[in-house]
Amino acid sequence: MTEEEDYDHIMGVLREERITPYNEDELETVLSIGHCINCGLCLQHCPVVAGVGVERFSGPRSIAVELSRSPPEFWATGDKVFLCTGCGTCREVCPKNVEVPEIVNMIRARIFEHRPDLVPQELHSVDKTLLEHGLAFAPWEDLEDKAESRDMRLERLNLPFYPNRVKERAEVLFYPGCQAEERAQEVREAGKVVLEAFDVDYTLLGDFNCCGLPAILLGDDKTARELAKHLKEKVGALGTKKIVTTCAGCTSNLSYLSERDGWDIPVYHTLEYLIEEIGIESLTEKLTQSEDTQSVTVHSPCHLIRHMSRQLAEYAAQIIEAMPNAEYTESNLHDSCCGGGGMVGYHSPDVAQGVVEENLRAIERTGVSRVVAPCPLCTAHIEEMLFRTGSSVEVDDLTVFIAQRLPKKE
Ligand code: SF4
Ligand code: SF4
Repeated sequence: MTEEEDYDHIMGVLREERITPYNEDELETVLSIGHCINCGLCLQHCPVVAGVGVERFSGPRSIAVELSRSPPEFWATGDKVFLCTGCGTCREVCPKNVEVPEIVNMIRARIFEHRPDLVPQELHSVDKTLLEHGLAFAPWEDLEDKAESRDMRLERLNLPFYPNRVKERAEVLFYPGCQAEERAQEVREAGKVVLEAFDVDYTLLGDFNCCGLPAILLGDDKTARELAKHLKEKVGALGTKKIVTTCAGCTSNLSYLSERDGWDIPVYHTLEYLIEEIGIESLTEKLTQSEDTQSVTVHSPCHLIRHMSRQLAEYAAQIIEAMPNAEYTESNLHDSCCGGGGMVGYHSPDVAQGVVEENLRAIERTGVSRVVAPCPLCTAHIEEMLFRTGSSVEVDDLTVFIAQRLPKKE
C-alpha cells in the first residue's frame, strides 16, 4: 500500500466506526480538560445547573470529560450537551483554562456528523432554513408586508427610516444580524440612525447572509464554514475597513472569523464603536432629552462580556449615564445568561426559563422601569420571560434606546 492508500484505508475504518480525528486546534482544546483539578467552580457557577439541577444537566466538567471517552459514551452526552447555553461562565471561572464551551461545540459537531438522530428536531429545522435561505429565520414572503411591519415598529418607537445604502469602499459595513434583518427590524433601523447621526460613511450588504453562528451551535460545521465563506467574499467585494453590528452573537462570531479566516477587518458592537471611534464627548453632545425620566438597568449579553470583553458592560453603563433623563442602576446579576443562548430555547424552553429566572428576579429587585440589552436576541428573550411573569418592567434593545435620543436628520 502507498502512504496515500494507507491514509484512505485508516480514514475509511474511522468513518465506519463513526470517529472523526481531531485536527491540531481541536486537539489542543480537548487536551485542556487534562489540566482540570476538579475544583468544582464551573459546576457552582453554571447557570443551567443552577436553573434545572445536576440531575438534568451534569455540568461543564463532566460534559467535557465525555470527549476523552469511547464513542458510545460520547454519544451518551446527546441528551445533555444541547442544553448548554454556551454562556462561557465555566471558562471564565476555571483556574486551569479548560475550554468547556469550545469542547461542547466540538461534541455537538461530532454528534451532528455521525448521530444526527440525537440532535433535537427543532435544531434540524433551523439548519434547513440556514441551508435554504442562508438565514437563521425564514425570510418574509412578501417584501411589502415586511416594510409595513418595519414602518409600524418605527412609528411606535418614534424612529425615522433612512433609505438603505449599498456602496463599495465605504468605511464601515453595518451588519445587523439575522434577528434584526428579518424580525426585530427596529434594531436594524436604529443601527442606521446611530451611524447617520455621526455622518459615518457606511454600507449595508446588498445580499445579506447569516454569519454562521447558529450552524456552529447546532453542530453543522460544514454549513457554518460555507456561510462564513460567502460572507467573506461579499465583505471583500465591498472593500470596507470596519464592521459594526448590533448583535452580541454576531460581534463575537465575526471577530472570531475575522481572525481565523484572515478577513483582517476589526469588528465592533455599536457600543464599542460609539465609545472607541465616536467618543463619549461627541455622543453626549448629541444626546437629546427624552419626555420622562427613565430608571434603567442593563442586561449584559454573554457573547459580549464573556466571549469578547467585560469592558463592554462598562461602555453600556457609560452611555446610559451620559443620557439626560436616564438613571442607571446596576443589577447584581447583570452578567447572568438570558436563557436564549446556545439555541436551548428552541428545543427546551423549560431549561431556558430555569436559566433566566434568577436574572429576572434581580431585574425586578432593582426597582427600575426599564431593562435594556445590547442584543436583539437577548431583548426578545427577556421581554418574553418578563411578560410571562406579569412584570411591569419594560424591555428595549440598547441600540434602539440610544437611537431614540439622537437627533433625526431632515
Ligand atoms: S458554557 Fe455556560 S451553560 Fe455551558 S457548561 Fe459552561 S457555564 Fe454551563
Ligand atoms: S473549573 Fe476548571 S479546573 Fe475546576 S472543575 Fe471545572 S474544569 Fe476542572
